Formats: sequence, C-alpha cells, structure tokens
Amino acid sequence: MNYKSDKEVRVRFAPSPTGFLHVGGLRTALFNYLFARKNNGKFILRIEDTDRKRYIPGALEKLISTLKAIGLAYDEGPDIEGSYSPYVQSKRINIYKKYAQILLNSGNAYYCFCSEERLKKLREEQRKRKLNPVYDGKCRNLSTEEVKEKLKKKIPYVIRLKFPKKGTTVFYDKIHGRVEVDNSLVDDQILIKSDGFPTYHLANVVDDHLMKITHIIRGEEWLSSVPKHIFLYKSFGWEVPKFVHLPLLLNPDRSKLSKRQGDVAVESYLEKGYLPEALINFIALLGWHSADDKEIYSLKELEKNFSLRRINKSGAVFDIEKLNWMNGHYLRSMDIKYVGEKAKPFFEKAGININDNEKYLKVIDISRKRVPTLSQLVEFAKKFYFDLEFTEEYRAIIAEENSQRIYSYWIKKLKKQENWSEDEINLLIKKTMEDLGVKGKELYFPLRLALFGSCTGPELPTIIEILGREETVKRLEKLINK
Ligand code: GLU
Repeated sequence: MNYKSDKEVRVRFAPSPTGFLHVGGLRTALFNYLFARKNNGKFILRIEDTDRKRYIPGALEKLISTLKAIGLAYDEGPDIEGSYSPYVQSKRINIYKKYAQILLNSGNAYYCFCSEERLKKLREEQRKRKLNPVYDGKCRNLSTEEVKEKLKKKIPYVIRLKFPKKGTTVFYDKIHGRVEVDNSLVDDQILIKSDGFPTYHLANVVDDHLMKITHIIRGEEWLSSVPKHIFLYKSFGWEVPKFVHLPLLLNPDRSKLSKRQGDVAVESYLEKGYLPEALINFIALLGWHSADDKEIYSLKELEKNFSLRRINKSGAVFDIEKLNWMNGHYLRSMDIKYVGEKAKPFFEKAGININDNEKYLKVIDISRKRVPTLSQLVEFAKKFYFDLEFTEEYRAIIAEENSQRIYSYWIKKLKKQENWSEDEINLLIKKTMEDLGVKGKELYFPLRLALFGSCTGPELPTIIEILGREETVKRLEKLINK
C-alpha cells in the first residue's frame, strides 16, 4: 500500500562518515530509497559530520563512491544540487547556531558552564549509586545575570536542551507501535558543544525540518532519542515527521552484529567479489519480506514490492551463508558478459592475462557454477591460466606407471586429433579405456590432475576445450618421467 498524503514523500539517509559504509547503514539507505521510489518521493543523502573529533579525511568521497558502486541513486545530496543545499552538516553550522539561539530565547534550552571535571565526577557518582547517567540540572535555572556574568568571563559553555522533568512522552513508530517514555529518564541533551559545533540531535532535527523530511527511517538504536527530538520539534513549533525504526542486525548467535564475528563494511564485500545486485537483494531481506516470501528480487522489483508494513520488529540475522548462496545464484544466472565485466578487475589484480576473450568467457562460465564470489572465482580460474602446482601426494599419483601410460598415449593421440568437440574427446576417453584397459578413477584422476591440478573438478572435455590443444599437450608432456 502506498503512503497517502498530499505531501511529497521525502526521506533521507544521514550517515556520519566513518571511513566505510556499515551493512546496517546500507540497509537504512536501501529502505529509504525503496520507500521513496515506491511513493514517487525523493531520497536524499545528507552527511552528518558535525563530530569533528571523528573527522576522517576522504570518508565522504568513499561513502559516495560506495553508494554509487552499489547502485543506490539519490535525488539530492552533497554532489547533486537540490533546493536545500548544502547537504553536508559541517557547511551549515551557522544555521544550527541560529536555531539554538531560538531555543535559548524561548526558554527551551540553557547555557551550561559545568566543567568536564565536574561532569566526570557526576557520572562516576551516578554509576556507583546505580542511577541513570543524566545531567543533574545544576545550570538549568541560572538567572539571566549569572549567565551574562559567566559569558563575560569567557567560561566555556555548552547549550543544553531543557527537557521537561515531569510526565511522559508518547509517540507512534510505524514498526514499534505506541512508545511511551518516562520524561525523568531523558537527559538534558547537549545541543551545541563547547567547540560551537552542534550535536547530532540538534542538527538532525533542524535539517529534517528544513529539508522537509516526511518519514524518518533509521536504525532502532535511535528509538530512545525520539523524545528529545519530539521536544525539539514542538519547541520550534514544527510538525513532527513519521518515525520508522528498523530492527537491529544480529550475528547468527543473535548478539548485535559486530566486526568481531565478521565483516560489517560494504566495501569489503565488494572487494571480495559480491555483486551489487546480490548485496541489495540480501540486504533488502534483513528485516523485510515480501507478501509471497519470494527471495530473489532485482532492485526494480523491490521498488515495486517494498512496503513498510512488512518490516519485522524483531532483529534480523545477518547470515553469510545465505549471502553466499544468493551471490552464487546471481553469478550463475546473470548475463555472462556482465559477469565477465565485473570479474575483470579481479583477474587483472591476480595478474591473469585475459586478452583471449573467448577463453575468458568460457572460464567464467565453468567457474561460476562452482564458487559463490568473484574472488573465489579467480582462484578457481587460475588453474586454466597458470602452471599447476602439485602436492607430494599428487606427484606420487602422476609418477605411477598407469598415469604415465595414459599421458604418453594421450600426447600421441592428441597431436593427431583433428576435432576437439566434446563428442570427440569422449570418444578418445573410450578408446583409451579399450586400448589401455583402464577405467573410472584410474583414468579420470591422473588426467584431471595433469590438466587441472586436482582429481575432481570439471568434466575432462570441458577442461580440454578451454585449455586448447597446445596447452593440453604441454601440460601432459611436462609430467612425463624423464
Ligand atoms: N548520523 C546518524 C547515524 O549515522 C543518523 C541517524 C538518523 O538517521 O537520524 O546513524
């Protein structure tokens, strides 16, 4: 069902650039994107980089290039002009200062002059006494005179939200339903830090309003911040957007998804050779399912089928096995030329010369049936390009009299062989069995070993067809005992 309103749907992905895109971030971006597309709305990329302590040079560019590599296009963002530029918060500092002043004037925020040291002590005390770690309100009720005095003396300060201490905040979240929070548990959030930069909370609310965001779709970890945000919207007299907090991502043991148990950077999945199409499909199913529980979806299909209603409340397990399965599915079923293009950088990095395009595509086709990722595909494909290496155990098989007889026989026959079709090679196999009196493994193992480097693997005619006459004979000749 589409969201019905006379207002244009506007959603945003608002990452703080950390140097990599977390898979949870990609899920947030994707769900926002899908909701926008489904409702003919706008999807905005906004960079929340006001925490200067965490500033990482190049992080913004990296984030943008990763979103591009994945194929999630935004309508407005740092590199796409829109009506609400700039879309990078560090370029909007004066805007937040202005709004902080409005809150000070209306009495919904106050100057706090407490030193770092005092706050640290306070937190320690609270921890010892097992109290909620919130600011104790020492500066909440300073008189105008006192504030003036301290400002004049240039005592460093922050600006805090004057959150009501009594009552409760009630709100609705599209996934969590009715949420009620006891106001006494909510902190007097710092809005402007001592360096003059805003915190996430102020900048986020101000921008969501100014950028006319209608739905806030983000991770569940932000659910507890909603009361502060609602208070901010109300203090400014602004309409509160709709909230949609996406379920947590979990490790298979149901702990919160962490680096410790596997990769969380989208970039590293791309580097390992997961296809963007597979990643998108897999990520879409982290917390969302379709009406008919179908699993394979292109981005276009997701755009049509996505609905907030079918997002679960409970955590979604990030199952790498499923991702491998899905990537394998895409590798096998996508256009071979496309897979070839995607695989190219991996082959080049491995130092494989792929100028022979016919051979290259044949190699891709045989390899993609057997491995889940492009980096594993290259490992597999190396056997068609590089000299084979044999373990001691394999060398022993190669040296056996039976193997040597087969190799000599094949070298002789192959040199005369006119036709390399599958049928012809199968005929040669049959002939070898008759002439040398060998069968089954006795025949297949030594040959596959000689030509492919392991006893099991693709069918012999396939291997031979890819290697070609010259290379096939060369590989056999190399193994003849001197
Ligand atoms: N900058 C926040 C983050 O990186 C955004 C949270 C939100 O979407 O409101 O998670």
